[in-house]
Amino acid sequence: MLIKFWGVRGSIPTPQIENLWYGGNTPCIEIRSDNGNLLIIDCGSGLRLLGRHLAAERGSRPLEADILLSHYHWDHIQGLPFFVPLYSQINRFHFHALESKETDLRQVLEGQMQTPYFPVEMRSLPAKCRFSSIGETSFSLKDFKVTTKLLNHPQGCLAFRIESGGRTLVYASDNEPGDKKGDHNVREIARGADMLIYDAQFTPEQLTKEKKGWGHSSWEEGVRICEEVGAKQMVLYHHDPDRADNLVDEILQMALKKFSVAQAAREGMEIKI
Ligand SMILES: [Zn+2]
Ligand SMILES: [Zn+2]
Repeated sequence: MLIKFWGVRGSIPTPQIENLWYGGNTPCIEIRSDNGNLLIIDCGSGLRLLGRHLAAERGSRPLEADILLSHYHWDHIQGLPFFVPLYSQINRFHFHALESKETDLRQVLEGQMQTPYFPVEMRSLPAKCRFSSIGETSFSLKDFKVTTKLLNHPQGCLAFRIESGGRTLVYASDNEPGDKKGDHNVREIARGADMLIYDAQFTPEQLTKEKKGWGHSSWEEGVRICEEVGAKQMVLYHHDPDRADNLVDEILQMALKKFSVAQAAREGMEIKI
C-alpha cells in the first residue's frame, strides 16, 4: 500500500507561516493498493489538493474511489465542496461513513452545501455518489479489507483498519483515552498493524488538564498503544491548530525517545508499507 497525506491538521485549517512545514490542511489521506485501487480517508481541506491531483492524473478517464469518513466534524468534511472530481459526470464515488441515529448520511453531507452556506447544492453535482452508513463492521472494497471500531469522541468517530497486499494500516484519529470501550477498541483494531496513524493533538499534560473531555489524544498514548499491541510504526496525526512546526518537532522528539519508529504526519508525505 502507498499512503499519501494531503491534510494533517486538526480542527481548522491553519494557513500560517509557522505551521507550513507540517501543513495547515485538515484530515485527508490517499491510499493506493498495489493494484492501483484508490481509497480516501476523510474529506478535510486536504481533499481539495487531492482532487486537483486526481483530475490532472486522470485527464478524461473516469475516476472511481471509495471514501471512508470517520465522522462529520467540519475538519473531516469541509473539503468536499472543493473536490473537483465531484463536478464531472464520468466519476463515481462510494461514501462509507459513521452511522447516526438522528440523521441520514446523505443529508448530513448535503447539509454543509445547502443554501445559504454554499452556492452549489451537493445533490446537483454531476458525479455519481453512493452512500453507505456503517457502524462496527468488516467489509471488502476491491483489494482492501476494511474493519471499523468506534472511538471515544464527541458524537462518535470510527477507526479504520485497512488490509491489502499483506500489509495493515490503521487510522485512529479523533480519540480520547480513558474510556473503557474506546481504549479496548483502539487496541483491538491496531493489533499487529504495520502502521498506526494516531491522534496526537494534545500533550499528555493538556490531556489531564484544560483539554480533558475534548475528544483527543497524545503522542504518549500512541506509544503506549503501539507497545501494547505490537504496532510497528506510528504516525502522529491531527496536529493542534496552535501547534507551530517547532512545537510539533518537540512532540515528535519526545515520542522518539520512547518509540524509535515514530514520525509526525506532514502534508505531501508518502509512505509505502
Ligand atoms: Zn478532527
Ligand atoms: Zn472530531
